Amino acid sequence: MTAQGDRVLRVAVIGVGHLGRHHARLLSAMPGVDLVGVVDANLQRAREIAEAHGTSAVTDAAALAGVVDAVVVATPTESHAEVASPFLEAGTAVLIEKPLARSLDEADALVALARARGATLAVGHTERFNPALSLARPMLTAPRFIEGHRLGTFPDRSLDIDVVFDLMIHDIDVVLSVVDAPVVTIDAVGVPVLTPRFDIANVRLKFANGCIANLTASRISRDRTRKIRFFQPASYVSIDFAEQELEVWRLVRPPAGAPSIEGGPVDVARDEPLRRELEDFIAAVSGRRDATVTGEAGRRALELAQRITDEMVSVRQEGGTSVPPREI
Ligand code: NAD
Repeated sequence: MTAQGDRVLRVAVIGVGHLGRHHARLLSAMPGVDLVGVVDANLQRAREIAEAHGTSAVTDAAALAGVVDAVVVATPTESHAEVASPFLEAGTAVLIEKPLARSLDEADALVALARARGATLAVGHTERFNPALSLARPMLTAPRFIEGHRLGTFPDRSLDIDVVFDLMIHDIDVVLSVVDAPVVTIDAVGVPVLTPRFDIANVRLKFANGCIANLTASRISRDRTRKIRFFQPASYVSIDFAEQELEVWRLVRPPAGAPSIEGGPVDVARDEPLRRELEDFIAAVSGRRDATVTGEAGRRALELAQRITDEMVSVRQEGGTSVPPREI
């Protein structure tokens, strides 16, 4: 029990690679949480992370059954469903890293299992917890045009998936959380450059309410950029996710005289988005409420990513260029 009398949640992290180690670091220092262990297919890696954060290295995730209240799954996407399902089946809360799964069928099965067993299912769309977006969110009431750029240097990980599922899916999820209308048309182009999968991608999404979102993602850029801009009838909101910076400009129409555009940078209280995401997950599990990014939201983002990729595949095929088979 904590000083406030709340139950301490027993949590484990499965997959402590590049991202999972940060989950372990943050959970090991979080009030109300007991990090009971970390699991990794690479035992040496599990031991290293366990030692750094004062917990145990576990070789087999099955050993956690009945010992944990919640797990974070940060293994490569191809194993999300296989690793998470036994925990959901047992009614244990699970936070799965994005993208939720490698196929819509797997995502559907995970969402249905969580609902059937009454287990909290959250998806790691970390950008939703970026303080710059949280501050901007109440201002994003009527976006007409959205422009997103997410460019990274070539990684040594996540090459099992197209850049749409690795990087663009963050912006897809953000856009879907802001625009409350179905997507009616998708124009997309993707180019495989250093891998057989799409390494660079651009999409223009048109929503039923007329809003347009133009998103670009690349994992073969020289510089890193993570920005999104929202154009509304009477305001412009610009977010730099990487720097956690926000700019807001508004159209001011005085009773007399010419209208003007006023605004500028807004102070953002910087914080680690991953910490905020984990706090939200822990609060959801303790309070028996849904997490901010539910399994359904993760599934929605995956579905749109899939539609975008399908469009990119058919555009290439129409152009006479073959595309290697892909699961997602
Ligand atoms: P990584 O390859 O660095 O780490 C994955 C780890 O999982 C490795 O240590 C590997 O040994 C281990 N592993 C593999 N299969 C396993 C299994 N079945 N059981 C236990 N351990 C296993 O990958 P990463 O970059 O940390 O990505 C992991 C996940 O996190 C991916 O789904 C990725 O898309 C996601 N991710 C999310 C964000 C974000 O911003 N939310 C950022 C990076 C990665």
